[in-house]
Amino acid sequence: MISARDLHKRFGHVEVLKGVSLDMGKGDVIAVIGPSGSGKSTFLRCLNHLETIDRGRIDIEGETLVDTDAQGHCRYVGDADIRRICRKMGMVFQQFNLFPHMTVLQNVIEAPITVKRLRREQILPTAERLLAKVGLAEKHASYPSQLSGGQKQRVAIARALAMEPDIMLFDEPTSALDPELTGEVLRTMRQLAEEHMTMLVVTHEMNFAREVANRVIFMDQGELIEDAPAGEFFANPCHPRTRAFLQSML
Ligand code: ADP
Ligand code: MG
Repeated sequence: MISARDLHKRFGHVEVLKGVSLDMGKGDVIAVIGPSGSGKSTFLRCLNHLETIDRGRIDIEGETLVDTDAQGHCRYVGDADIRRICRKMGMVFQQFNLFPHMTVLQNVIEAPITVKRLRREQILPTAERLLAKVGLAEKHASYPSQLSGGQKQRVAIARALAMEPDIMLFDEPTSALDPELTGEVLRTMRQLAEEHMTMLVVTHEMNFAREVANRVIFMDQGELIEDAPAGEFFANPCHPRTRAFLQSML
């Protein structure tokens, strides 16, 4: 579903990704863990073109989004292809990013109408089903300001799903939530995983990584240090930096 090869990214003089590679199959649920500033968000954002890479190659579902030629020039496909390819991925952010002036329902149907050109009545049944799925059917007329953080994040998940993505990217979806609200969001994500959604999840929730992810990767200082099945990763981490990080999370 995703093949990332030797991704390099710098912001000014800071090399934020130093050759990150990852292969993700259909139905994989991969947890990305690592210290703050290690490049986790940048990695996710490069995959769906919220950031450009400087070098490397990204294929999404067998289609090349960007590649680098022998001279080291990084080449993206055309804008229309970028949009089409990146639409296969939905993203959920730490800060929800809901449209504040729109109701819950409007938030969910906005992109299908404006991007996919669906008519309101075509997308409404899907939107209602998705809101029911995340446990918010009765909130369809509420505004984001009237919701708890956990409810907002579940709307954000429903909104991403309304575009019918094949892959979901989550960037610390519970980090902005009060502890008592993380459970409801993690349950929604667990349910998605059980339905075999392909998911790449940056998280500090070690129990989620252990119980829901089939693979865990550890990033540190712009490098992917460890990539292992979840059980192995926690039982027997190979790299000393992974061990130190896991110790610090206890
Ligand atoms: P993480 O998500 O693991 O905390 P990030 O990918 O957000 O890490 O950041 C990695 C590094 O890149 C940090 O040093 C951060 O300050 C820097 N960085 C991220 N985004 C930008 C940006 N838009 N401009 C400049 N530096 C950035
Ligand atoms: Mg981050």
